[in-house]
Amino acid sequence: MTQINQLFKLAARPVGLPKRSDWSFEEATVAPPADGQILVRVTHISLDPAMRGWMNDARSYIAPVALGEVMRAGGGGEVIASRNPKFAVGDQVVGVFGVQRYALSDGKGVDKVDTSLVPLPVYIGTLGMPGMTAYFGLLDVGELQDGDTVVVSGAAGAVGSVVGQVAKIKGCKVIGIAGGADKCRYLVDELGFDAAIDYKAQDLKKALREHCPKGMNVFFDNVGGEILDSALTCLARGARIVICGAISQYNNTTAVKGPSNYLSLLVYRASMKGMVVFDYASRYGEAMREMAGWMAAGKLKSREHIVEGLETFPDALLKLFAGENTGKLVLKVG
Ligand code: NAP
Repeated sequence: MTQINQLFKLAARPVGLPKRSDWSFEEATVAPPADGQILVRVTHISLDPAMRGWMNDARSYIAPVALGEVMRAGGGGEVIASRNPKFAVGDQVVGVFGVQRYALSDGKGVDKVDTSLVPLPVYIGTLGMPGMTAYFGLLDVGELQDGDTVVVSGAAGAVGSVVGQVAKIKGCKVIGIAGGADKCRYLVDELGFDAAIDYKAQDLKKALREHCPKGMNVFFDNVGGEILDSALTCLARGARIVICGAISQYNNTTAVKGPSNYLSLLVYRASMKGMVVFDYASRYGEAMREMAGWMAAGKLKSREHIVEGLETFPDALLKLFAGENTGKLVLKVG
């Protein structure tokens, strides 16, 4: 039977927040897999803040999406035809399949997952790229130590919620920064954070000083801008600042706001280091095994925020920038 693909291609480089006309929504006949290829029916698409950066024609850790190319996105689905000996029809897989219903792949970077253990969206969230980011960003880049006070921004999101929980599992004091009372309640009541600060309603610098009287040892930053600048006023000696992301700056039409309080790094002998999760690809297995164990033991909770309908993609992506998601934002293709 001939399948009709539906896909979003990048049509224009956005200025500020992306809009629907920055993509074209198209249909095409699905070609059968060539020798070595698999055909995947994509069921879930990962919506990630990084997708905004991939739309810019700028030098980065990965090439930009070209105009006219299918919008890049991680995701998961089912193998429905295979001419690759490593995959069989019916396999559940995750990989970078793009914003489309069907994807042909040579199998490189595609992993089989066992959906009898946890549902597929967990493999693109807590046990996927965001979870890996949290794990290696905190333990490796952040060099977490016993008894540390850890502060994480974007704390109720896919990466931040895992950062805080892993730090708690490791016996640290954890303070989350998030937007809104509901998210803050979720962090403390459901995820076991020691405290949460609503940056939209509270004086962030003051609240940080109250919760971290001796300063913070690790600041895991997902947000950048004003929040990073405020965190720099509350460091402990030897603090490690993990630059994971700067979502507050991704849609800027003016220059990125840099930290004016950076001399705190000098005063507190602190360090600030960027990370890209893909550098840890060879160690994902190690992290997945440990995190799956924590999940099975009820120590690590995973929350997915699922929206439905491929055609809603342009609006669904914006939820990340409006703070409408709690946990990992996933688009169910439908
Ligand atoms: P997420 O946190 O699940 O979703 C984004 C959240 O960011 C929103 O829910 C919102 O929460 C917050 N936000 C949006 N605009 C904001 C603003 N102007 N100021 C403050 N907060 C804002 O997203 P994620 O997938 O976990 O990604 C989190 C960060 O990690 C992003 O910066 C992303 O680029 C980065 N990341 C980096 C790597 C890497 O390898 N370096 C890998 C994955 C992700 P509130 O309601 O709390 O504002």
